[in-house]
Amino acid sequence: MDFQSWLRDATRRLSSGESPKRDAEILLGFVTGRVRTYIMAFGETSLTAEQLQQLETLLARREQGEPVAYLTGEREFWSLPLSVSPATLIPRPDTECLVEQALERLPSEPVSILDLGTGTGAIALALASERPDCQVTGIDLQPDAVSLAKHNAQKLAIPNAQFLQGSWFAPVAGKRFALIASNPPYIDATDSHLFEGDVRFEPASALVADNAGLADLAHIIDAAPAYLHEGGWLLLEHGWQQAAEVQKIFNDAGYQQVATVKDYGGNDRVSLGQWQPL
Ligand code: GLN
Repeated sequence: MDFQSWLRDATRRLSSGESPKRDAEILLGFVTGRVRTYIMAFGETSLTAEQLQQLETLLARREQGEPVAYLTGEREFWSLPLSVSPATLIPRPDTECLVEQALERLPSEPVSILDLGTGTGAIALALASERPDCQVTGIDLQPDAVSLAKHNAQKLAIPNAQFLQGSWFAPVAGKRFALIASNPPYIDATDSHLFEGDVRFEPASALVADNAGLADLAHIIDAAPAYLHEGGWLLLEHGWQQAAEVQKIFNDAGYQQVATVKDYGGNDRVSLGQWQPL
């Protein structure tokens, strides 16, 4: 069988999914080691028996709903090819808007940055790669996530990001930062979103929070002032319907310049505040 015929069949078998053609192309690229343009240009290239068998296994798993990123072990974020595993959330394009906002607010001099619940290390590594003069610390409760983030830093040769295991701020007790970013769990346990598509395969510990999804956001907002320099920023990703509640928590805690930014899909996604004790 050649590339083209396999793609046609695979796309048909994945047709009930969200992105059948793209998923099939990614799996074919993964198994053959060929980039998309090669696959398109040389569609008549034959697959070996071994490749076919490997592709069949992956396709069957994808048909059962497993995310493509878990099948290939990789997902691009901020143009960084990150290793991913079922121990972590799969980085989303939406979260790139958090990185963008953080870069806009960082002072021009070298500073320290913190990323809470770093997972694959996506936010920390994006910031560290853009600001090699800054020291970035990523923290995660899950040891497997910390190992993965360290692996990504090494693979991408980003030396100014370090990763620590622990609960929220515990590993950096007594330290202060110019900017703290986090994409914490923020989905309510009963939200139907948790039972659809790729999300079903992602760790609940990275997705679900108490108090209608607000518990971890509130914990971070309330605890962060002890870890922020004067004038430092806290930036948090949250659900598209949580902006008003998150802004209220920021305001009640005494932050200034509280605002919300939309993601590329036009949904409220990131709220932020500046810590400026009066
Ligand atoms: N935005 C993700 C989703 O909707 C959730 C990310 C998170 O909970 N931090 O699937």
